[in-house]
Amino acid sequence: MTAIETLKSKNTLRDVLTRTEKEGTGLGHFNVADQTLVKAVVAAAAEAELPVIIGASEGEREFFGARELAAFVIAQRQESDVPIFLNADHTHSLAKAVEAATAGFDSVVIDFSALPFEENVARTREAVQAIKAINPAILAEGEIGNIGTGSEIHETAQGDRTLSTPEEARQFVAATGVDILAPAVGNMHGMLKSMVQGKAKKHLDIERIAQIKHAAGVFLTLHGGSGTDDEHFRKAIAAGINIIHINTELRVAWRRSLEDSLKRQPNEVVPYKILPPVVDSVKRVVGSRLRLFSAQGMVNEMPATA
Ligand SMILES: [Zn+2]
Repeated sequence: MTAIETLKSKNTLRDVLTRTEKEGTGLGHFNVADQTLVKAVVAAAAEAELPVIIGASEGEREFFGARELAAFVIAQRQESDVPIFLNADHTHSLAKAVEAATAGFDSVVIDFSALPFEENVARTREAVQAIKAINPAILAEGEIGNIGTGSEIHETAQGDRTLSTPEEARQFVAATGVDILAPAVGNMHGMLKSMVQGKAKKHLDIERIAQIKHAAGVFLTLHGGSGTDDEHFRKAIAAGINIIHINTELRVAWRRSLEDSLKRQPNEVVPYKILPPVVDSVKRVVGSRLRLFSAQGMVNEMPATA
């Protein structure tokens, strides 16, 4: 089988994560809030011939409609040569987790990380059991530690963020039954102004990632990947990160290209003439990240990315 034939065969998210973990590559997760963004992510994955995860937080699902988004992504998947998965990002209630599982999402990020550890464990365990009762193949992700909120542009770094410890990772996974863990390892949601301007990069605690991977023994997700140093992404994947979330970089590209398209066509009112440059611009961001995450073992041949 050629690479593309292998990709075409119907794989579950667990299959693809197992394969990428063996290969030492990472799987890109990109948030969407509308059809323009979904088109951009799907087009980038098709062009790169790589599997991809489309994600939507509670706010994004509310805007799109959880069932509507699932139906749209499932329709795209049927046309696609590469696996396209759908994740319910940052879900803060049992009801919303159940809603996503029922709608056909492939995975749910159960996020009670703002609660004290014991309460986080109890609420997460309850949600894991509930969604697996709806769909035994669904993957449950849990979150420990504080990585800030809001995939937006922040003026200054938010509060103090303590890193997750290997021991709490081990305890959390054992007590909740999650398939995927999202630790705090120097990552944070959103980007600082200086990062958007390209003057600063996020740095990750690679050693901590390796320790947590060893202790937890499950797939790991890196949230808040936007603005992270490329070399740190490569090292993080090598240390055990399986999924990387990128949101703010897409939102910045979306807004800039939309403003630009409107400026270039001041009298245009036809959406399908205004929006294609936006799809293209977001697609370029997604494509460059997908290629970076999938390029393990080819580190020296990687072109510089924006
Ligand atoms: Zn996140």
